[in-house]
Amino acid sequence: MAEAAYKSVLLFGAPGTGKGTQGAILGAVPGFFHMSSGDMFRALDKESELGREFLKYSTKGLLVPDEFTVRLWSAHTKGLVESSSFEPASNCLVLDGIPRTAKQCGLMEGRIEVLKVLHLTIADRDELIGRLKKRALSSGRPDDADESVIRRRLKVYDDETTPVLEHYSADRIAEIDAAQQPAEVVRDILEVVAPIHAEQFENPLG
Ligand code: ADP
Repeated sequence: MAEAAYKSVLLFGAPGTGKGTQGAILGAVPGFFHMSSGDMFRALDKESELGREFLKYSTKGLLVPDEFTVRLWSAHTKGLVESSSFEPASNCLVLDGIPRTAKQCGLMEGRIEVLKVLHLTIADRDELIGRLKKRALSSGRPDDADESVIRRRLKVYDDETTPVLEHYSADRIAEIDAAQQPAEVVRDILEVVAPIHAEQFENPLG
């Protein structure tokens, strides 16, 4: 029997727009489960074959190949369902960083039901670069420390990730101004997702 597709919202936006921050906040709300593909990769043992494969790409500012990424995501998600950490019947999956290419959209078709795409935007590139460099000081992420790697990631985003938006009809995309104060961004996201959650899921505390 085919497995049911996970009801999901996608957090979408260039590096530095605050997807991770907003995803963690949303994931703290009962009924939402935050999953970041970047965190999934960074949790790999750096000495393992998979971990080395990830670093080979990420340290250059490149995306990990699509099949490998989706295979790892599938196994990771399955593990979370089996351990009852993620309960798809009562939790809306908040996908942060995946699908990230048109190919990944295809590979994940049937596995996720995209209820809404939250498109976080900051028009000013210099502001994005400044945010990422600032994050490097606290995160210790090698891919945030080097400006040429940051610029490469922004270019990869423009070239490979922006086309993902074309997969979804305009009424499924919510534009969120991510240059606002974090609390204002939280408010705008909740305005979009709270009614969707109420419509699609039971009250997790009810
Ligand atoms: P950011 O959005 O700041 O680039 P992420 O934590 O989402 O940070 O991703 C860090 C790196 O992990 C990416 O540059 C890429 O190498 C890899 N990665 C994360 N998600 C994906 C994905 N869906 N497909 C391919 N590579 C990915």
